[in-house]
Amino acid sequence: MAWQNQLKQSICTIDQLRRLTEITSGDEKKLSHIIVKHPMRVPGYYASLVDWLDPDDPIRRMAVPHTDELDVSGSYDTGGEIQSTKMPGLQHKYAETALILTTNRCAMYCRHCFRKRLVGLPTEEVMKRFGDAARYIEQHTEITNVLLSGGDPLVLGTGVIERIVERLSDIGHLRYIRIGTRVPVVFPARILDDGDLIGVLRRLSRPARRLHVVTQFNHPRELTPLAVRAVDRLLGAGLVVSNQTILLKGVNDEAGTLADLLRRLVGIGISPYYVFQCRPVKRVKRHFQVPLARGYRIVEDAKSTLDGLSKRFRYVMSHRSGKIEIVGISGDEIYLKYHQARDASNLGRFFKRYLTEDAGWLDDLPRVGEGSASTAS
Ligand code: SF4
Repeated sequence: MAWQNQLKQSICTIDQLRRLTEITSGDEKKLSHIIVKHPMRVPGYYASLVDWLDPDDPIRRMAVPHTDELDVSGSYDTGGEIQSTKMPGLQHKYAETALILTTNRCAMYCRHCFRKRLVGLPTEEVMKRFGDAARYIEQHTEITNVLLSGGDPLVLGTGVIERIVERLSDIGHLRYIRIGTRVPVVFPARILDDGDLIGVLRRLSRPARRLHVVTQFNHPRELTPLAVRAVDRLLGAGLVVSNQTILLKGVNDEAGTLADLLRRLVGIGISPYYVFQCRPVKRVKRHFQVPLARGYRIVEDAKSTLDGLSKRFRYVMSHRSGKIEIVGISGDEIYLKYHQARDASNLGRFFKRYLTEDAGWLDDLPRVGEGSASTAS
């Protein structure tokens, strides 16, 4: 069956969900409300990885709506994306990187998504005129790389992907192009069943300018034989594959699980790039965010069992002021460093804040010398 038809058979309604798991009538009403706000889509493949007898199954948590999503504390734009938008679908936050929101669609609508405000929903934020975005990138010679994101670019038709990457490949000052996608994790058939896609990616990943895929495996159980084969296809086509893991409560917030994931990623040829602190996104924060103090302990405990390649990643917060590495904790203080910064004068800046046990984000950390929480910017 063509991948498009396979996707059409995803689980998108509460009725379909009820065939797999018990849902009380009280929860049914709440979940129906939630999926109107933020749609559900679970491809059949990913649903087959869920242990439906376990309500707390980690794979289920990432795919299936939960009543905790009724909690709207937090923000829908924690990274200042709207502030970075130069035209619909083009963000330019860090001088050297441009980000294109190619689509609002994904193979699966992950419950922990930080772009919940737009995935699967009508939006004005995604790319409208790719030609204008390409011209902007052409005119800004400080841009060295483009991240194709969304939504998930790999749910676009192969011809569309080809035209986008080909046009960007003509821009001389770009050193590489990245495709941010969860398709290898949630829907590997897109890669395995479409020979044309692999052919296009192979042709466009050139020795002097490789195409990169940045994916998001969050749990070792996502590394199935099919997912590993999909990754192998990408590597075999000459792409570079790296991974960003989100630290998620009830999914990978245990050092052994996180270490197992990172170790296995390296084994199959994926470079662990970042472990992200879960952002305080509305309908995500309460359900998924691990406090920084606990997150740091988990990451350090995992690292203590890992070899050099498996612990190359940085544990970071993608804050509106920049990408902030969580460097260390000593007593009641947390040490942080700007790895990327919206304001270039902050680049590399090392600083500290007071740490409380329940703080989950920079904005929750009081400045040293002050009694109350304040922001970095
Ligand atoms: S695939 Fe990525 S963009 Fe889409 S819902 Fe999942 S995390 Fe969000």
